[in-house]
Amino acid sequence: MKYRLGARSLRNLEGVHPNLQKIIKTAISDSPVDFTVVEGLRTTARQQALFAQGRTQPGPRVTNVDGIRRRSNHQAKPDGFGHAVDIYPYFLGQVQVNHKDTIKNLRLIAGHIKKVARSLNLEISWGGDWRSFYDPPHFELR
Ligand SMILES: [Zn+2]
Repeated sequence: MKYRLGARSLRNLEGVHPNLQKIIKTAISDSPVDFTVVEGLRTTARQQALFAQGRTQPGPRVTNVDGIRRRSNHQAKPDGFGHAVDIYPYFLGQVQVNHKDTIKNLRLIAGHIKKVARSLNLEISWGGDWRSFYDPPHFELR
């Protein structure tokens, strides 16, 4: 066992579907690179604030989902849980969002997480595989 989830990751897994929690909690221990869960369950207000970014608010666009007409998989489903998490690699002593090796490390982590999901007979999608809205920190249940 190389790594374990820190307090921030555990807090961000609260309200996330148990199957997704299981994948992440299993994956961390022998992940090729340490990681932090930076976001899990999202309120509608939070989704709306993210949607406003790059539109009516400053900053880059980070989502095409407005939270009302289209709901993010981070928002609670009818089962009460969020079905998505955002992860960043943790190296050189901190969570790395913009380091030149962030994407390379996310790719390593994603390969590992997919393998863990398969071993648990669960299906996961990685935003790094998406063409329409490339989103490499994002993982969601399928
Ligand atoms: Zn996400």
